[in-house]
Amino acid sequence: MANNSAVQDAPKKLTMRDYKTDVVSDWCPGCGDFGIVAAVQSVYADMAVPNHEIVSYSGVGCSSKSPHLMQTYGVHTLHGRSIPFSTGTALCNPDMKVVVTGGDGDGYGIGAGHFMHAGRRNVDMTYLVYNNGVYGLTKGQASPTLKLGEQPKSLPAPNPNANVDPLALAISAGYTFVARSYAYNRKHLQATIKRAIEHRGMALVDILQPCPTYNNLHTKEWYGEELEIDGSMFPRTYDMEAEGYNGMVQNPNDPDEVTAKEVAALTKIRTKEERIPLGVFWQVEMPTFMDRLEAGNPIMAKTPSYKMNIADADGKPTMDLSDTYAELLTK
Ligand code: SF4
Ligand code: MG
Repeated sequence: MANNSAVQDAPKKLTMRDYKTDVVSDWCPGCGDFGIVAAVQSVYADMAVPNHEIVSYSGVGCSSKSPHLMQTYGVHTLHGRSIPFSTGTALCNPDMKVVVTGGDGDGYGIGAGHFMHAGRRNVDMTYLVYNNGVYGLTKGQASPTLKLGEQPKSLPAPNPNANVDPLALAISAGYTFVARSYAYNRKHLQATIKRAIEHRGMALVDILQPCPTYNNLHTKEWYGEELEIDGSMFPRTYDMEAEGYNGMVQNPNDPDEVTAKEVAALTKIRTKEERIPLGVFWQVEMPTFMDRLEAGNPIMAKTPSYKMNIADADGKPTMDLSDTYAELLTK
């Protein structure tokens, strides 16, 4: 008689449904946000991350509703303030996978200062920016990524401001993983998000995301167009790594290689191409914020703060901070 116990005891294979909530999204039909959330949920299932080991953060905007759809811990914070909140969690509980979602207006505009300083700290977390060139939730004003002179239907006149380049900004700020993907290229998007989550350090994935309601320039159809270049047809977006680009630093202790890869990444990002490259522009293993603290400050406990015993059964503090206070008072 066959023994089915092994089959019965086999761990359940997780699917993206295990990471979905019952919340019904109010995003517009055709919004690129749907594909991004589905990709993130599929990555969690693929990595078999327990729901309670993930925390989803967001700021304010259409895409910042994403944590409501995720069966994980979730915090919908203030406009542009997802990074300081999520940094706290990443530092206090390094056992959590901290994944921040938000829009280009939220992250590169309102939260631009936090965006930059997150790179300098190299905290171990993942930032997914849904980039559609507009502030969708407030009816399509120009966001920092809308290019000079562009006029989607939500603007009364062409954009008078030049755009920021988030990928170049991130590399300059110290992000140790910098990538671009596209909401409707599910396979590439999932692979890129997975690599970003697996990366140890501050990771940015800038995700091109069509907003059909307010941005009639960068639509799904526009991104999906074929371009004629030198007599041949090419898709507008392409996987640059499949064409030989490799942004990963092999030896982070070799300053020549680090500089060469950094220059190559910035050159690739800033070179004007008719096609839009997708993939990882830059990746390097560098000490994280916690590594640096532990190396430079012996007072820092090696134990994550969520595991520290800070009070006895009566609630009386058990930590002796007198040495720390004494050191502070002498400076
Ligand atoms: Fe999506 Fe744009 Fe609608 Fe917001 S306004 S839900 S970004 S399509
Ligand atoms: Mg936006």
